[in-house]
Order: sequence, then structure tokens, then C-alpha cells
Amino acid sequence: MLRVDLVRLEREGVLRVEGAIDPDDPLFEESGLRFASPLHARIEATIAGSGEVVMRGSVQGSLVQECRRCLADVSSPFDTELTLVFIPADELGEDPAGDAYPLEATAMELDLRGPIREELVLAVPSYAFCKEDCKGLCSRCGTNLNEKNCQCCGEDADSRWDVLRALGSE
Ligand SMILES: [Zn+2]
Ligand SMILES: [Zn+2]
Repeated sequence: MLRVDLVRLEREGVLRVEGAIDPDDPLFEESGLRFASPLHARIEATIAGSGEVVMRGSVQGSLVQECRRCLADVSSPFDTELTLVFIPADELGEDPAGDAYPLEATAMELDLRGPIREELVLAVPSYAFCKEDCKGLCSRCGTNLNEKNCQCCGEDADSRWDVLRALGSE
């Protein structure tokens, strides 16, 4: 579980939390994020003097995206450092950077999954390629040109050779 017990944190000053998030967690519905395997997070929570709670740590996992050219699934392992700052909810309007998360005065614990999702949404690249020289799909017949040449591209190539042959014979 990725929850921080605020009562214990208050008493001990520092807490380490470690846990996994299932890739099928409803948390990721409509986030646009897909993962190949469970995410693992390691977080250290500390209390700052002003009532802020600061969490530092990392999340590891494997992101799944569609190749921009051929639409095949591409898995990219990642290990992202993150810092989450929680400030009392009534002070949230005064947060100059605007990227802190609210800390409700009555909360006994903090669920880190939502904030981790938000950080991952910001961190993922907007598109992926299955390989640098992916040939993509034929714009005419949709054949995946990494796997085979289609009829239409074959004809194109042939007609180009014809032109060269014609030039050479002149
Ligand atoms: Zn591709
Ligand atoms: Zn084609």
C-alpha cells in the first residue's frame, strides 16, 4: 500500500514507504497511461517545520505506448525520481509554484497513488517509436513495412528502377 500514516510521521519525523501499484488499477482509467507490469514506488516522507509534508523517492515501471509510425506497442522501462510536496489545504492558494498537493487538516493518512499518477502523466514523453528507423505503415494499404513490403510499395520501387534503367540505356 502506498499510504503514509500521518500520525506515525508526526511522531517519528521520517517514514519510509514502499509499495506497488497494479497496472490495472482504476486509478489509471482515463489517464492515458498504460503499464506492462506493476509499478514500484519507494518514498521517504518528512515533515517540514511549516506543516508541510515532503515525499522524495522514485517510481519504477514499464510504460506502454503506441509507436507513432507503426502503432505497435512499445514498452519503455523507467525509473523516475519524484518529489511530492503536501501543504495544508487552506494554504494551497498561497503556493507560488502551484504544484503542491493538499493536506487536509483532519487527514490521518495520505494516499500517494493519485499524486504519483499526476507526476507520471507529466513525466511521460508525448510519443514513442518502436525503433529509430521504424518504417511505419504503408499509407495506401496499411501493411506494416517493418515486416514486409506491400504490393503498392513494390510497384513504386519497380517503376523507379525502370526510370533509372531507361536513363542508363540512353
Ligand atoms: Zn514502429
Ligand atoms: Zn501498400
